[in-house]
Amino acid sequence: MSFKQLGLIEPLLKAIQEQGYTEPTPVQKQAIPVILAKKDILAGAQTGTGKTAGFTLPMLQLLSQHKRAHNKPEIRALILTPTRELASQVAESVDIYGKHLPFKSTVIFGGVKINPQLVALRKGVDIVIATPGRLLDHISQKTIDLSKVDFLILDEADRMLDMGFINDIRKILAILPKNRQNLLFSATFSDEIKRLADNLLNAPTLIEVARANMSSEQVKQVIHPVDKERKKELLSHLIKEGDWKQVLVFTRTKHGANKLSEYLEKEGITATAIHGNKSQNARTKALADFKDSTVRVLVATDIAARGIDIDQLPHVVNFELPNVPEDYVHRIGRTGRAGNIGEALSLVCIDEKEFLENIEKLIKKDIHRFVVKGFAPDPSIKAEPIVQKRGSGSNNRSRPSNRTRPSPKGRK
Ligand code: AMP
Repeated sequence: MSFKQLGLIEPLLKAIQEQGYTEPTPVQKQAIPVILAKKDILAGAQTGTGKTAGFTLPMLQLLSQHKRAHNKPEIRALILTPTRELASQVAESVDIYGKHLPFKSTVIFGGVKINPQLVALRKGVDIVIATPGRLLDHISQKTIDLSKVDFLILDEADRMLDMGFINDIRKILAILPKNRQNLLFSATFSDEIKRLADNLLNAPTLIEVARANMSSEQVKQVIHPVDKERKKELLSHLIKEGDWKQVLVFTRTKHGANKLSEYLEKEGITATAIHGNKSQNARTKALADFKDSTVRVLVATDIAARGIDIDQLPHVVNFELPNVPEDYVHRIGRTGRAGNIGEALSLVCIDEKEFLENIEKLIKKDIHRFVVKGFAPDPSIKAEPIVQKRGSGSNNRSRPSNRTRPSPKGRK
């Protein structure tokens, strides 16, 4: 099936062609016709599936079917995302796919100056992509008019709830016009998501696509058993031996991310860390340096990495396994995208046995173990419990029973 057969209009087909996409992805095939038919959807799809184009393309088409009431654009579409990075990336997609259409969009998030946002809003935009906190600031200061919104998208809704945004979302929903089309995208369907969906969506069409890369063989997954104290050394060894040029490394904590990137730098491997304690500018710069290969290694925490879209990422390393098994799937979804083979390596110490078991249960397969020569774990070392810090950036899904709950406001 082609994009044309999905009923998309010429200006969009042209933009798609310029992007080099030849065929819609499964989520696009399912979502585009339903959205064009003006139905609400509840979609289980995560980053890497092509979901952004799946909602952006039909949104742009629907906007183009209704002439603006006035010369000055009014906000008719609102896209909410959990993180600034994801907001920027969705905004970029809106620009790319909407390039041959006359719509204006702007992105609104915290951590940057509010003035440029005010200027853009004053001039008028058709589409706003926002994180909930800063959007509420604008709402309370009456610097944004959402009274004409008839198209709402919640992207990565599960993450928004995990990050404690539920009340912010409720406040935003309360001021939107009642008559509107709603799309809810979420990688997982917890009871909380189902409750939100029940309140928000009107007879939604359910769309579910296979977890990114899980059904395909595009990601080679390997476990390297190693002692905790030797993980740094092993990582440096793997990068040097393999001559890896671009590797995304996940740590569980922000502090761990900083420490690891400092270590790698000392080892002569260019590295930078990205996490919620860094300013927006520092995060943007870190990502840009990584994308243009100024630095070889980007060390990230789960929330900071969420929504990062880097094409053809060859290597993802779990320096530490996530305590939430779904996060493993998100992490390895960063590699092997859009037809490229990727490699996801996990450095696993004895303390992480339970995390690994939960991951293998979720993905329904055993991951191949491979001991790197010279790095065999010392059998005399006993497992120690992993202390979960409050607000360390994890979330509350499928957690092993003996873990403490993170701070409900993990917002960064
Ligand atoms: P997303 O799941 O929205 O984060 O998209 C993941 C990646 O897939 C992005 O780099 C998109 O540019 C790319 N992509 C989206 N749709 C297609 C398609 N139909 N064919 C090839 N690549 C695509």
